[in-house]
Amino acid sequence: MSAPLQRFAELCEQLSTTNKKLEKRSLITDYLKSLTSEDASRATLFLSGQPFTEIDSRTLNVGGSLLSKVVSHLSGADQTAMYAAYRRNGDLGAAAFDLFQSRQKVPQVLTLKDIERALEDIAAAKGPTGKQPRLLDLLEKSTPLEAKYLIKLMSGDMRIGVKQSLVEEAIAFAYSAQPAEVRRAIMLTGSLPEVTAMAIAGTLNEAHMRLFHALGFMLASPVATVEEAIERFTEEIAAERSGVSEALPEEERLAKRVETAVDTTPLQAIREAQLEDKYDGVRAQLHCGDPREPGRVALFSRNREDIGESFPELIEAFEHISEPAILDGEIVAWNPTDQRALPFTSLQQRLGRKRVSREMRERTPVVFVAFDLLYLKEELLLERPLSERRSALEQFTESHETATMNCVQRGQADLFVDDTNDHFPRLILAPAVQLRSAEQLNRAYTEARARGNEGVMLKARLSIYQPGRRGLAWLKLKRELATLDVVVTGAEYGHGRRVGVLSDYTFAVRDGDELKNIGKAYSGLTDAEIDELTAFFKEHTLEDFGGFRTVEPLIVLEVAFNNIMRSDRHDSGFALRFPRILRIRIDKPVSEIDTLERAEEIYNTQPDKPQDS
Ligand code: AMP
Repeated sequence: MSAPLQRFAELCEQLSTTNKKLEKRSLITDYLKSLTSEDASRATLFLSGQPFTEIDSRTLNVGGSLLSKVVSHLSGADQTAMYAAYRRNGDLGAAAFDLFQSRQKVPQVLTLKDIERALEDIAAAKGPTGKQPRLLDLLEKSTPLEAKYLIKLMSGDMRIGVKQSLVEEAIAFAYSAQPAEVRRAIMLTGSLPEVTAMAIAGTLNEAHMRLFHALGFMLASPVATVEEAIERFTEEIAAERSGVSEALPEEERLAKRVETAVDTTPLQAIREAQLEDKYDGVRAQLHCGDPREPGRVALFSRNREDIGESFPELIEAFEHISEPAILDGEIVAWNPTDQRALPFTSLQQRLGRKRVSREMRERTPVVFVAFDLLYLKEELLLERPLSERRSALEQFTESHETATMNCVQRGQADLFVDDTNDHFPRLILAPAVQLRSAEQLNRAYTEARARGNEGVMLKARLSIYQPGRRGLAWLKLKRELATLDVVVTGAEYGHGRRVGVLSDYTFAVRDGDELKNIGKAYSGLTDAEIDELTAFFKEHTLEDFGGFRTVEPLIVLEVAFNNIMRSDRHDSGFALRFPRILRIRIDKPVSEIDTLERAEEIYNTQPDKPQDS
C-alpha cells in the first residue's frame, strides 16, 4: 500500500510554516525515512514541485482557469466568492483549502501512487474537455489539505520554500550519502526519483550520463563599464588564485574569497581572461550524437524547455553527428553571405513557433554559435577549466562543421539538394581571444557593437562550468540604459486603437519568494504580440475586475526605462520612469527575473537620481 497523500500534504503545510532551512531539511529527511523506496521517489519529485522528471517530456497543461472552474464546481463557490478566496489566500491552492471546508468530509483515501497515476492520466488527456473530468474526479476525492497541495503541484508552484537543492540535501541526509554525490547523480540522469532509489540502494556511484535533459546553464554577472569589468574580474582572479574551493557552499566561498584573496594586479587578472562577443539571440544547449539514439538531437532553452520544433534546420543539421556531445551556445539569426548575426528582432519571428514554413526558414536563417562544450564522448567536462573545454570545442567544431552544412528538409531531399540558400554550416564557433590589455577590451567592445552584437563577455580561463550559478567567472559587458527582466502580474485594456486588447501591463520583480510590482508599461510590442498576449492572459486570468485583471505570473518581459524612483505607487516602493518593453523573454524562466535588490542597486547608482515621488 502506497503512503497517504494526506501525510504528504501535512508535511508541506509544516514546511510552509518555517523559514529555517535546517528545520525544513530535517522534516523532509524524517519523512523520507518513513517511506518505501517507491514512495520516497515519488515524494522527492513532488516536493520539488514537479509532476514529471526532467527527462520526461510530458506536461500537464492545466491552466489556472481550468483549475478555478473545477474548484468552483466542487465547492459551489460563484465567481465573486472565488475571487474573494483568492484574494484572501494569494493562490488557488490555498483558496481551494478555504472553499473546500464547507464540503462534506471525504475519507482520506488517496495515496502517492494514486497521484502519480492521476497526473499521468491528466497529461495524456486531450485539451480542457479531456482534462476537466479527470481533475474533477481527483479533487472530488481530496480532503481540503490534499486539494491545496495537489493544486499547487499542478500549477507548478508549491510555495513551501523548498528548492530542488534542499530536496537533494535531504536525500543525502536520509540515506547517508554526500550531497555532492546526489547532485551529481541528478545532473547525470535528470531524474530525482531514480536518484532517490539509487541513494536508498547505495548505488549513486553507478549513475550514468544520459543525454537529452537540460543541464543547468552557467550565467554571467552584468558590468556596465570597462573599469567595472576589470575591477570585478581582478576580484575573481584573486579569489581563484587563493584556491577558494568551488566545491564550498556559496556563502562560505564568498566569505573566504575576501579573507584569503591573493594580491593580484589588474593586468595579471586581464591576462587570465578569454574575450568573446556577446551574441543577441537565444541561449540554448544542444544535445546530439548519442549512439543509443542515432540521429536524435535536442535543443533546450534556459527554461529547460525543448525548443527544437522552432528550429528544425538545426535539428537536421546535427543529425549526422555521431559523437555524443552537449554544446552550450546561442541560436542567432544569421546572414550567411557576410557571416554575421542579424538583429534579435529578426530571430523574434521564429520564436515559439510549432511549425516553421520553408519560406520562414529562408527568410530568417539561423545558426548555433557554440561557445562551450559540456560533454564529449563519455566525459562530462564541467570540472575541466574553460581553456581545456575551449580546445575540445575547437576540435569538435573543426571535425563536424562541414557535416552541419547538410541541412536538407526531411523527406524532400530530392527537391532541395541543390538549394544553395540552405547550404552553409549551422555550427559556428564563437571566436575567442585571450585578453592582453584594458585598451583591447575597450576596442573589442566597440568592434563587437559594430558587428551587430550586444557587447562582450569576459570569462576566466581557469574557471569550471558551474550550472545555474551567476558568478564573476563570466562577466557580460553591455553599455546601455538600465533594463530589468520582470514578470507581468496584471493586464489592462488599452485605449484608442488598443481598446479591445489587453495592452497595458503591470509587472513585478522578485523579492525572495514574493513578487513586488514595480511598474506599468504599454509601449514596445507589436500588434501581433499584443494579440497573442491578450489571448494568453485571458486564459491565465486570476481575478477579473473589468478593465484590469490580475494574471498568473508567467510572461517575462525585458523593460528599459530612463530612471528609477522611490514611490508608493507600487508595493516594491519603486516606480520606473518612461518604461518601455524591449521584448518578451520566452527564454527566461520567472525564477530568474531581476530582484528588488537589483532595482535598489540601479536606483543607487543612477548618476541623475530623480526626485522621489
Ligand atoms: P542576459 O540574458 O542579459 O542575462 O545575458 C546572458 C546571456 O548572454 C546568456 O544567457 C546568453 O544567452 C548570452 N550570450 C551571448 N553570447 C554569449 C557568450 N559568448 N557567452 C555566454 N553567453 C552569451
